[in-house]
Amino acid sequence: MKVLVAVKRVIDYNVKIRVKPDHSDVDLTNVKMAMNPFCEIAVEEAVRLKEKGIATEVVAVTVGPKAAQEQLRTALALGADRAIHVETDERVESLGVAKLLKGVVDQEKPDLVILGKQAIDTDNNQTGQMLAALAGLPQGTFASAIGIEAGEIEVTREIDGGLQTVALKLPAVVTSDLRLNEPRYAKLPDIMKAKKKPLETHTPESLGLTVSAAPALLKVETPAERKGGVKVASVDELVDKLKNEAKVL
Ligand code: AMP
Repeated sequence: MKVLVAVKRVIDYNVKIRVKPDHSDVDLTNVKMAMNPFCEIAVEEAVRLKEKGIATEVVAVTVGPKAAQEQLRTALALGADRAIHVETDERVESLGVAKLLKGVVDQEKPDLVILGKQAIDTDNNQTGQMLAALAGLPQGTFASAIGIEAGEIEVTREIDGGLQTVALKLPAVVTSDLRLNEPRYAKLPDIMKAKKKPLETHTPESLGLTVSAAPALLKVETPAERKGGVKVASVDELVDKLKNEAKVL
């Protein structure tokens, strides 16, 4: 069974985001980048399937600039067998990524595709759903547990107020939620070994596709600064301030 895992290069979650002075985008100059945390969970799940003898091959794929190969090497260090880079310097939105991933799915014919439920940079939460629709595959989103048996995958989904379990025929698309697993850290010897694992490069054109930066990004703004709070000495003072200063009572 072949598992394809989509990983995205994003700003490291510890970094305080800066916006470019002209508000055209987020400033990426000298910013630490990392694998999207939900993609780390997706890679971990694929590697665990291989360790359990359910998967025979784990292939990591990313769409992005040359530098995104760093995240593919991380996936290889975490246990993926090989990697595919669809190289583009264009800003590719979810639908564009889903179309390119569909191109890779057509070539690789995986039995299972695992994506993160959401990229923490744009918070779109739609690439997996779009890929499933484009590829005509069943989807199990927000997975907190999976089980594979006899050509089927059971996906326990985190939904409002509880859990829902669905059964999908393979091949299928799954997106990982936070509780699916706790990803491992890459060990130094595995990081060294990952440098020698195969990494294939494509372009959108070599997949027979073009990317368009749609929808257009109009502007990016930081959230409004919050004013500092004050401590009140009593409930009476609080009520007075709410009535006379905030005028919310
Ligand atoms: P999004 O729909 O943008 O929130 O992203 C959801 C998931 O889609 C991510 O966690 C990745 O698994 C996948 N994905 C999004 N963008 C890319 C990309 N540029 N390259 C590879 N996978 C991606």
